[in-house]
Amino acid sequence: MTDLIIIGAGPAGLTAAIYAMRYGLSVLVLDKGLYGGQLVTTNEVENYPAIQKISGPELANQIYEQAQAQGAQVKFEQVTHVHLGEPVKTVVTDGGKYLARAVIAANGAYRRRLGCPGEQEFTGRGVSYCATCDGAFFKGQSVAVVGGGNTALEDVLFLSNICERVFVIHRRDEFRAQTVLQQAVLQKENVTLLYSHTVQAIKGGQRVECIQLQNLKNNDITTVEVNAVFVAIGLQPDNGVYEGQLPMDQGGYLLVDETCVTPIAGVFAAGDNRQKPLRQIITAASDGAVAAFQAANYLNVTGVGE
Ligand code: NAP
Repeated sequence: MTDLIIIGAGPAGLTAAIYAMRYGLSVLVLDKGLYGGQLVTTNEVENYPAIQKISGPELANQIYEQAQAQGAQVKFEQVTHVHLGEPVKTVVTDGGKYLARAVIAANGAYRRRLGCPGEQEFTGRGVSYCATCDGAFFKGQSVAVVGGGNTALEDVLFLSNICERVFVIHRRDEFRAQTVLQQAVLQKENVTLLYSHTVQAIKGGQRVECIQLQNLKNNDITTVEVNAVFVAIGLQPDNGVYEGQLPMDQGGYLLVDETCVTPIAGVFAAGDNRQKPLRQIITAASDGAVAAFQAANYLNVTGVGE
């Protein structure tokens, strides 16, 4: 049995691992994919204190190596079930079954889907959720970015430097993104802003060829020829595995405050999958530290499973 299982190897989970190791706990981190969470698809990070500029993957590498240097064990397995109600927790993955005295839920969040016809069919064939990862495939071509938040406009800026034309499809007539990003986008001559539009369908043959749009002001349907659609419409917390066991809000975020303590004894939550006002690398890392502290205190006080 491990003292602490951390589900998720993003900034929250790996920071929790670093802190938990330093509290003397044995730690197993489980992640279904790569370590780093959303850092893997983040182009540049310029707002992490003491680091002026670093790529997302490089920052992820550094946190991962730090967690490993502290002795944390990391396994890349998908968690399929959890049983959290008992003093000893069970975590089932596609690779095995693990017991722990405490669990930190640090699953993070993933990019929300549009849910329109063609989206799933063309994913990987022109539909992408990561401009940083896939933008270069569409150099000199026409692309669309869907969304009006910071991610969407950052994607637009990046793509406008390499693509011939970038269409921005946003459902409202004003952007949610920071003013500085909006101003930068407005300076771009090869960007076409389509406010109050939604994507009705993504169409093509082998690859994406066009998108069908609806103008929400007059219901007109138009078709725009593009080679790719970058979907940047926000995040979906990755909390499915906790359904029925941990309380969530309407958006699926875990109802946990900044103490990171859930209503289930020995279960803590950290990072983008919990309800919080600001989802950033630093707030995820902060949660990881707090959750590890709470888990260590809980284990010291209760002595559960010793
Ligand atoms: P976001 O801020 O939630 O924005 C999502 C955008 O997608 C919104 O404009 C929203 O429209 C639109 N949208 C949502 N559902 C939609 C749907 N079904 N169909 C069409 N449009 C839809 O998400 P984000 O841009 O991914 O950012 C996530 C978090 O990371 C935010 O807190 C953001 O500030 C942060 N972030 C920060 C930075 C930075 O600091 N440099 C960079 C990237 C992200 P409405 O506006 O109408 O709701």
